Amino acid sequence: MSSVPIRLRLTLWYTLILALALLCFGLFLYFTTARALHTQVDTSLQLVASQAVANLQDEDGRPALQNSDEPGPLPALLAARGYVIRLLADTGEVLDGTGEYRRLPVVVPAPGLATCMAAGEPWRLYTTALTYLPDHEGPSEGSASAGTGAGVRTYLQVAQSLAGVREAEGQMRLLLAFAIPVAVILAAAGGAFLADRALRPIDRITREARRVGAEDLGRRLNLKLPDDEVGRLARTFDEMLARLDKAFRRERQFTSDAAHELRTPLTVLKGAIGVALHRPRTAAQYREVLRNLEAEVDRLIALAEDLLTLARSESTAPGDQGSTADLAQVAALAVERLRSFATARGVFLELDMPVPLPVAGDPDRLGRAIYNLVHNGVKYTTAGGHVRVSGQILARPQGTNTPLVAPSTAHATAEVRVADDGPGISPEDLPHVFDRFFRADRARTRTGSEEPASGAGAGLGLTIARSIAGAHGGDIAATSTPGGGSTFVLRLPLAPHP
Ligand code: ADP
Repeated sequence: MSSVPIRLRLTLWYTLILALALLCFGLFLYFTTARALHTQVDTSLQLVASQAVANLQDEDGRPALQNSDEPGPLPALLAARGYVIRLLADTGEVLDGTGEYRRLPVVVPAPGLATCMAAGEPWRLYTTALTYLPDHEGPSEGSASAGTGAGVRTYLQVAQSLAGVREAEGQMRLLLAFAIPVAVILAAAGGAFLADRALRPIDRITREARRVGAEDLGRRLNLKLPDDEVGRLARTFDEMLARLDKAFRRERQFTSDAAHELRTPLTVLKGAIGVALHRPRTAAQYREVLRNLEAEVDRLIALAEDLLTLARSESTAPGDQGSTADLAQVAALAVERLRSFATARGVFLELDMPVPLPVAGDPDRLGRAIYNLVHNGVKYTTAGGHVRVSGQILARPQGTNTPLVAPSTAHATAEVRVADDGPGISPEDLPHVFDRFFRADRARTRTGSEEPASGAGAGLGLTIARSIAGAHGGDIAATSTPGGGSTFVLRLPLAPHP
């Protein structure tokens, strides 16, 4: 069934359900109407019988339907309406009758309703017993039982042909037998048309989507469709293509940037080696060249490590669910590692961590993120400047700045702030500082870093930090005023207390 096209499946189901519904409805209608027709015949027979009984005449001491001296209009009227009335003795002998009463078979009368065949036609018969008292007390329908007084037991029978009812039933059957299939065929055709119309845009989406290859992700479906389910599907597809396109471009850009970043130190290495080999040198000169090369190789190693860290942090699942890290301790460790670097640069490094900041995650990776922020603070702050690393707990996940005294609330946030009073970042550069390989001042000379694992000016330090924060369900935000210093704020969801 799965290989059957949706439009065919839809049409088949729709037609099947409609056919069943129509069939049930038709049968119900047919049986209810037939029943009503039969009940109507029975009721009218009983009504006519009671009228006939009320009009019974006395003809020489015998009951008669009408007086032969002055015949009344009722029997003729009833006969004209197709009613047959006859009086029977309990032997079955017909005493009197109106209408086509001779067509009816002679039967021993039994009170009640019955159906019989006469002249090839079905008839409905209603028989009622009479106790006729000839002393002018009049007849009484179904009254005193046989044998009371001097009464003569007779029966009044009213009959009507069921030919009309049978004909109506036949016509109804014919109509239903014809109407239901026609309705089902029309509905199936309509259903197929509608299903086709509704699904045609999906065919278009499929055709267009097939044309989009990995190499031309810039292509869009751009289908002008109404804002319905299919229209939304097409737009979502276009949005997905846009995201993929952006991701692919970023990857390509990253690869070319990485290649470029690697090529520069390699070219420097090659140049230095070429110069060294140009002519014979003393051992001291070779040592000098090798020392220079070693610094460049260190930078290459640092860059390769950064690229590796970045690739890992972007491809691993968010957070390290198993372990917990205390950001306060992690930050203290990072500060300790950078203490000598700060002293060498004449920068004051302060730490203020009044409360533990437990978060779920890998302490090493989180340490790397904080290290990069503090390292940048020290690196970009001039001698005599300050870098302050502080921590607090926020009641709300993000946004509010109300510090909490004790870590208690669920959904609270741990915050680590790294603030410096260095040169700051210009408003144009600020939105890009987290981009890969972004450096605000590309002409700036390297710091001759004593801490090669920092990214060493490759423009990856903040990218790595943010990527680690993101993998732990948090983020890093930057604020800065040119000339007034920069603040980097790392926020992570606080881990529940064990
Ligand atoms: P890198 O420091 O290796 O150049 P980063 O990703 O760490 O790369 O930083 C990107 C850029 O953001 C830096 O080149 C620098 O211009 C700017 N930046 C980062 N931190 C600071 C800071 N504390 N003060 C001033 N500028 C900063």
